[in-house]
Amino acid sequence: MVNMVRNFFIHLSNNVFLNKQAKKWGFFLGADKFIAGTTIQNVSKAVKQLNTTGISCTLDNLGEFVLDKTEANKAKEKILSLLEAIEQENMDCHLSVKLTQLGLDIDQDYCISNMIEILDLAKKYNIFVNIDMEDYAHYEQTLTILKYLRKNYTNVGTVIQAYLYRSEDDLMDLKDVRIRLVKGAYKEDAKVAFQNQQEIDDNFLRLCKKRLLDGAFTSFATHDHHIIDELKNFVKENNLDQDHFEFQMLYGFRNDLQSKLAKEGYHFCTYIPFGDDWFGYFMRRLAERPQNLNLVIKDAFYTDNNRLKKRPVITSLFIVCFATICCIKARRRKS
Ligand SMILES: Cc1cc2nc3c(=O)[nH]c(=O)nc-3n(C[C@H](O)[C@H](O)[C@H](O)COP(=O)(O)OP(=O)(O)OC[C@H]3O[C@@H](n4cnc5c(N)ncnc54)[C@H](O)[C@@H]3O)c2cc1C
Repeated sequence: MVNMVRNFFIHLSNNVFLNKQAKKWGFFLGADKFIAGTTIQNVSKAVKQLNTTGISCTLDNLGEFVLDKTEANKAKEKILSLLEAIEQENMDCHLSVKLTQLGLDIDQDYCISNMIEILDLAKKYNIFVNIDMEDYAHYEQTLTILKYLRKNYTNVGTVIQAYLYRSEDDLMDLKDVRIRLVKGAYKEDAKVAFQNQQEIDDNFLRLCKKRLLDGAFTSFATHDHHIIDELKNFVKENNLDQDHFEFQMLYGFRNDLQSKLAKEGYHFCTYIPFGDDWFGYFMRRLAERPQNLNLVIKDAFYTDNNRLKKRPVITSLFIVCFATICCIKARRRKS
């Protein structure tokens, strides 16, 4: 059942039609709890607030799987403006980017040229740029581009997903590169990725420890308190330097744990997504943790001050239609 729900939301996250519609409609389904608005002003407010509590941030201008140069150029321009804002407003943060937003599916050289423009400005302002890791179909290309860029830029790194069998080898290959370690958010085939949650968790923890012992700066990106506790103990037992790693979590998730870790003196970084292309990101969060559905349901039926919305029937009909459109589209594509 959990797998069915997970697959359903991952399927929704990839649905081009729904992604387009959601952009037009604006935030709904409680997405605003996990996405810091649509503009640079919105996100800079969120960063400054977190910075006052000792938390640094990484900013993601939402958008992925772009197939049109005008849209990719627009995304690049927004990211360049974001870099200017980070510098001018002296924010403690770096960038997270997705290569498919910058034209990877249009043309690899075009995507690289967009990245070079971004990295040139980021280098000037001494800002780190992390390349998010997307689905396995883009994995090899992402690593190839990273290695190419690393020839001229040290301010760029990427993400390794512990659900992939090859993650350990890739991590060894990227020993000197700043890396974010995650479990992995996409649905991947058993040929390339562990399917069992326990195996993924075990591999994630093992890679984190390995990296602590012999890698460059690493961001451990997880909301899993069992793993965080194990890592804290491991660092203490082995007398490791806290300046060699940080914990990362997503904006809006486990806020208490985020500030607790920062107060305990660990480097902590919150990943803040913003922008109107929120649908795919939000559906992947629902896939990871079906409990987040509570928020969707609460948002559909209740107002901010916990009063029942006037038209819950219309809202629920809307949600049912939404899911039905998605299923019909999926069937059509299959047939
Ligand atoms: C900062 C950041 C960046 C990421 N970047 C990428 C990327 O580039 N590419 C990619 O593929 N994936 C990325 N991910 C997603 C990642 O791969 C996982 O899919 C996601 O983090 C879920 O795994 P988890 O370890 O956080 O917790 P899970 O494995 O989902 O949960 C493990 C346990 O943690 C506890 N828990 C988890 N969430 C909560 C919660 N909200 N409240 C209370 N308890 C909770 C529960 O006890 C749960 O059983 C990123 C994640 C983060 C945090």
